[in-house]
Amino acid sequence: GATIGILGGGQLGRMLSVAAARLGFRTHVFEPGAEPPAGHVAHRVTTAPYDDEAALRAFAESVDVVTYEFENIPTEALDLIETIRPIHPNRRALAISQDRIREKSFLNDLGLATAPWAEVTDRASLDEAIALIGTPGILKTTRLGYDGKGQARIMSPSDAPEALAAMAGATAVLEGFVDFSCEISVIAARGLDGSVACYDPGQNVHRNGILHTTTVPAQIPAARASDAVLIAGRILNALDYVGVMGVELFVTPEGLLVNEIAPRVHNSGHWTQAGCTVDQFEQHIRAIAGWPLGDGARYADVEMLNLIGDDIGKVPDYARQPRTQIHLYGKAVAKPGRKMGHVNRVL
Ligand code: ATP
Ligand code: MG
Ligand code: MG
Repeated sequence: GATIGILGGGQLGRMLSVAAARLGFRTHVFEPGAEPPAGHVAHRVTTAPYDDEAALRAFAESVDVVTYEFENIPTEALDLIETIRPIHPNRRALAISQDRIREKSFLNDLGLATAPWAEVTDRASLDEAIALIGTPGILKTTRLGYDGKGQARIMSPSDAPEALAAMAGATAVLEGFVDFSCEISVIAARGLDGSVACYDPGQNVHRNGILHTTTVPAQIPAARASDAVLIAGRILNALDYVGVMGVELFVTPEGLLVNEIAPRVHNSGHWTQAGCTVDQFEQHIRAIAGWPLGDGARYADVEMLNLIGDDIGKVPDYARQPRTQIHLYGKAVAKPGRKMGHVNRVL
């Protein structure tokens, strides 16, 4: 049987490994950190830093295709792997999503709307950006941010020095604060043959910058939902993308704005495990393995609830509830803000 290489051994790598195993594939996970959640289910794990060329080479040679579960893989590691095995989704998709400025430029060039934004490298460019965009706004590091980390709100121009200090010298982007009516995301897939399949948009609620719940169907007009799906399809086609992508959008009275894209399976797509015949993890494995995309039609209304930090203590209660599916990531320590698991409730 074929072996799928997965860069990153977190919960997404774990759930990808389960899906791969169900389809008869082996998985080999490459993860710098000790005791990765994916380690419990992958056939093989390499624990090595991304600059260990020998380990990367051996990893690539042991697999048939390489994918990844997070965006922030060093470019040099990918350069090396790509000389040995194909990487899906492709490098361009990854490079664009690694950098908020490239991402927004790409989206705007496609004719897709985003929050107004401007690049910020120092105090002068921040003052200019505030003059252009106004307040309130959000300053975000262009790279390496996730779960709301690397962000600072600017409620009035006097917040500028503190917000800039929070960027710690990194290049940033100032975004105008979007007064959205809700947030949604589209989990979209594209196969090796170019076919596209999108799951129904889910409605997302964040707490402290971290996804709290995703509910399907999103409470938006049908026309907005199809707009969102069409936007996702355009993004995938423009990138000649293979695999699953998460597209986060703001719904406003004026229309949809794209917040960001994630070139991987996505937390806001976990509901598909309880709502669809083929969930996002199987869909991703199918796509990168060159299989036909599976049936992602939604057959239930679902609420996905993230278990963050101490929420793990509520598992015994959830375990007694009907129509409830529990997913735990096997992480030993429940630090605040750490994603420990999730619950899918069929509504
Ligand atoms: P993720 O974990 O999804 O990758 P992230 O750290 O990349 O998160 P964003 O998605 O940019 O961060 O922002 C996190 C949340 O903060 C958004 O889902 C939204 O709720 C809020 N937010 C971000 N940018 C804006 C904006 N310009 N206007 C209003 N709210 C925003
Ligand atoms: Mg992000
Ligand atoms: Mg986000």
